[in-house]
Amino acid sequence: MGADPSADEAPPTGEEWFRWLPELLPQLIWTCRGDGPCDYLSPQWVRYTGIPAQDQLGYAWLDQLHPEDRPRVQQAWAAIAPSGRQFDIEFRIRRYDSVYRWFKTRATPLRNAAGVVVKWFGSNTDIQDLRDAESALRQVNRDLEGRVRERTEALATATASAQSTAAQLLAAQRMAKLGSWHLDLTSGQVEWSEQLFRTMGLEPSAGAPSYPDQVHLFTPDSWRRLGAAIEEAVRTGVGYELELEVNRPDGTRRWCVARAETGRDADGRVRTLTGTFHDVTELKEVQQALEKATERMQLATASAQIGVWDWNMVTNALSWDPIMHQLYGMDPSSFNASYEAWRACVHPDDVAAAEKALEVAFEGGAPFDTGFRIIRRTGGVVRHLRGAAVVHRDDMGRPDRMVGVNWDVTEQREMEQALLANERLLREFVTHAPAAIAMLDRDMRYIQASERWLQDYRLVGQDIIGRSHYEVFPDLPEHWREVHQRVLRGAIETCDEDPFPRADGHLEWLQWEARPWLTPSGEVGGLLFFTQLITARKQLEGELQRQKEALERSNTELKQFAYVASHDLQEPLRAVAGCSQLLARRYTGQLDAQADELIRHIVEGSDRMHLLIRDLLAYSRVDQQELKVARTDASEALRTALVNLRAAISETAAEVTHDKLPIVTADHGQLVQLFQNIVGNAIKYHGPELPRVHIDVTRHEASWEFRIRDNGIGIEPQYFDRIFNLFQRLHTRIEYPGTGIGLAICKKIVQRHRGRIWVEPAPGGGSIFCFTLPSPSRGTHEQTPSAD
Ligand code: ADP
Repeated sequence: MGADPSADEAPPTGEEWFRWLPELLPQLIWTCRGDGPCDYLSPQWVRYTGIPAQDQLGYAWLDQLHPEDRPRVQQAWAAIAPSGRQFDIEFRIRRYDSVYRWFKTRATPLRNAAGVVVKWFGSNTDIQDLRDAESALRQVNRDLEGRVRERTEALATATASAQSTAAQLLAAQRMAKLGSWHLDLTSGQVEWSEQLFRTMGLEPSAGAPSYPDQVHLFTPDSWRRLGAAIEEAVRTGVGYELELEVNRPDGTRRWCVARAETGRDADGRVRTLTGTFHDVTELKEVQQALEKATERMQLATASAQIGVWDWNMVTNALSWDPIMHQLYGMDPSSFNASYEAWRACVHPDDVAAAEKALEVAFEGGAPFDTGFRIIRRTGGVVRHLRGAAVVHRDDMGRPDRMVGVNWDVTEQREMEQALLANERLLREFVTHAPAAIAMLDRDMRYIQASERWLQDYRLVGQDIIGRSHYEVFPDLPEHWREVHQRVLRGAIETCDEDPFPRADGHLEWLQWEARPWLTPSGEVGGLLFFTQLITARKQLEGELQRQKEALERSNTELKQFAYVASHDLQEPLRAVAGCSQLLARRYTGQLDAQADELIRHIVEGSDRMHLLIRDLLAYSRVDQQELKVARTDASEALRTALVNLRAAISETAAEVTHDKLPIVTADHGQLVQLFQNIVGNAIKYHGPELPRVHIDVTRHEASWEFRIRDNGIGIEPQYFDRIFNLFQRLHTRIEYPGTGIGLAICKKIVQRHRGRIWVEPAPGGGSIFCFTLPSPSRGTHEQTPSAD
């Protein structure tokens, strides 16, 4: 308000003030008298109010004040004016256009020498713009404050939520095993979230390792791929997603998925990489296990030739795996699997049942397992399949999907049929087998018995199936129960003769075999009896034994009788022979011709009788005399025999030769007789040529074979056996003398030595008489044939 008057060297006078001040100052200037009323208003005041000055002097100027301000100004003026102190006050003054503007008014008192206020100088400065600016500022401030407040509140909320979000994030990261990281490519600074440290198996306090130092945290392959991915991201600005294998310091391995996004600077260059690091080890393990399980499942279904089908009941799409196509003989490229197509493959007779099974499955929800036939279009073969399925339902419980399997049971069916047929056959066989057979279970209950069984044990007409063996045979010997228990434990028991005393007192004899029968799982299912009633045979055998004993007795008696008889007959025969020879010598030619003839007959008859009795005695002796088996030189025995035959040999000029003969185990006397009889015959039955006899010997595994070959008359093959029997002769006495006992004696001697005797035709005529004598096996008592 106004310039300081002290600044001028010569202050203007009151008149001068009024001359130029009101013109110069922008303020509205006024003066009042010391007691209050206005006595001057500047032209600016008049211009501003549009009211002449004289109309406003005194207290009229108050009318231009804003009605709201007027009382306050009046009170202030009334209060201040008497005090004579300078004062400031603000109020609104009406402009000429009736607009009120704010003015700041300063009133300064002018005092006379006595200090009495004689004048008041005032200026009103238009502060409307200031006020407006202030008010605008205030408003702005208010707005600002409001906004600041709002922001602060928002910030507070945001901070709180950020804090809780951060905590949640940390928890979420921990739970999801999801770490996060940031890499500043310019500074090389690396930031890791807490979880990432955990995933890597590192302590957060040590800080995140620099990118190059992370090389130890990955397997070489993963590190290489990570490097390549980062390089690519920096070059292209496109992030990446990688599966990496982490090599933790404690040696454990983890599978992680790393994802990254790039951050660019103002120039568009990639400056940062931000990403997540997700530990998916468990997921991976589950995934691998699932893959393995799926693979195993596929392998299993493929190797078991199980076809898998999947029917989406909402879209009605049916999908078949390759094995399904194989099973149905359909070419996958031309065959479109659909429910109707499947239905068309099913044997017409089985369609209803197969569809019913499906229906039941999706109504009741239970999986089904049913068999049906299909007709393969390629080749039209009928195959038996089985199908099983599970139904999947939507949230409302409606079936929306069905997954099932099919497999071929044709062979199984055929086998079952064959098995059934076999079983029927077996039952038939057992029932009608001409043997007593019974099949029992583990509890000794009858499963089956043959008709013969029923007949043998007098059970015809009784239904024994299901009944206990012990109930059917209450009189079973106790020890048989033990046999049954052993058989049920797996033993096979047999008995050729077993008495079975029946309750009614009669005795049956059994030949039996009891063996366990096995179930398909290899366990004993029960036992099988095979029995034969041998009572009749036993009786017959008893009878036979009795007869044999009687025969042996009579045979022995007979032998004794033959021996005794022949021995005892010798004496009277000698007398008869002696008398008849005497008779012949004395009376031949003295009586008539007929008497001579009779005498000759008597002599011949007694001679023949003598020979017969001698030979018979020799025959009986073979049995009667004790067999003195010892080491015997066969050549020695032969020599003795030849000495005994010397008369015949010289008479016929026979030639007897032999190979080296062995030491044998035999009765020397009987061996002499054996050689003597055979060589004797060889000489006796000679042909027109001079008799030539040769004896050789062959070593066999357990015997010596002697062969006595002659060049005699030979024997017809049909008599080869007969000639070894007693009294069997092929010629008359006229042709060749003899009794027909010699070879029978030979046979008996050889048999007593447990050997064999036979005759063969000699090549070029004649016969070969052969016999064997047992010898110790080769190598034990090797005998060296001795030369003659
Ligand atoms: P025999 O006292 O009649 O000789 P054998 O028992 O010794 O009684 O012989 C029975 C028969 O076998 C003889 O009658 C003869 O016909 C025939 N026989 C035996 N040895 C020979 C042989 N070496 N050659 C031809 N026939 C023989």
